[in-house]
Amino acid sequence: MTNDNPAFGAGLQPFMGIPSFMRLPVTRNLKDIDVAVLGVPFDSGTSYRSGTRFGPRKIREASLMIWGHNPTLNVSPLKKINVVDYGDVSVIPTSIEHTMTAITQTAEEILQSGAKLITLGGDHSIALPLLRAHAQKYGPVSLVHIDAHIDTWESEFDAVPYSHGTPFRHALQEGLIRQGEYMQIGIRSPLSDKNDYAEAARLGARTVTIHEVMEKGVKEILKEVHERMKGPVYVTVDIDSADPAFAPGTGTPEVGGLTSYQLLQLIRGLHGLNLIGFDLVEVSPPFDHADITAILAANLAFEYLSLFAIK
Ligand code: MN
Ligand code: MN
Repeated sequence: MTNDNPAFGAGLQPFMGIPSFMRLPVTRNLKDIDVAVLGVPFDSGTSYRSGTRFGPRKIREASLMIWGHNPTLNVSPLKKINVVDYGDVSVIPTSIEHTMTAITQTAEEILQSGAKLITLGGDHSIALPLLRAHAQKYGPVSLVHIDAHIDTWESEFDAVPYSHGTPFRHALQEGLIRQGEYMQIGIRSPLSDKNDYAEAARLGARTVTIHEVMEKGVKEILKEVHERMKGPVYVTVDIDSADPAFAPGTGTPEVGGLTSYQLLQLIRGLHGLNLIGFDLVEVSPPFDHADITAILAANLAFEYLSLFAIK
């Protein structure tokens, strides 16, 4: 295939050219665009090992291995819908509050254009400003949250309410999530207090532990997701939901997690819901090996993108 643009084009090999997500055009012109892919290279909400600021770039690079047709869902999303790479949010690494404002503003710009949003993090603190933007457009959302951690904790830092362990506490308290329509799936991290799950439930979460996923199987969990979620569904995936064997490149790895295949199954199984947005967070390339975490992340984003195309 001939191609007069040295940066882009389907004729380029994965190791060639400049890596936008799936080699999509990089633009902020959203006329007639269905989906914008947005990077948030921010990791100052991290409490343990940082490095997710390098996530978006690495996931984009890993995405070049995805040729475009999804054989399982039988769809070529880029042929059915118009998708662009919107670039990154202008983050301020020393200020979580300024960065959160910038994330909400950028996300609102995109959503106002009519495009939907696939966001690549970044640590999990970025989910709160993304939820604010989506709730601004759609009203309170139904939330599918896949993670090893509940992330409904109170901040461990008295002076700062926000971190990657608190986004869903705030989202619930701010009324961004529909009552009874929040599931957190894959939960297994050690807890700081024996009442942490009860506190998550009090706030409004349905906590599905990894034990429950493994006992019941992914299909059974998906059944509950479909029964529960009645509103516009936002999906947030923390890559540490995967077992460290499948995703070592993350800041807070927890043993005994989901396989890559189970994660793909979970995303695919969301087909049929009223899907409005997606983020994929906590990929930390400095801790990755052979890019396996970034490759998993790119594939999960592609899987979700495929759902937008078969809707
Ligand atoms: Mn986590
Ligand atoms: Mn998380």
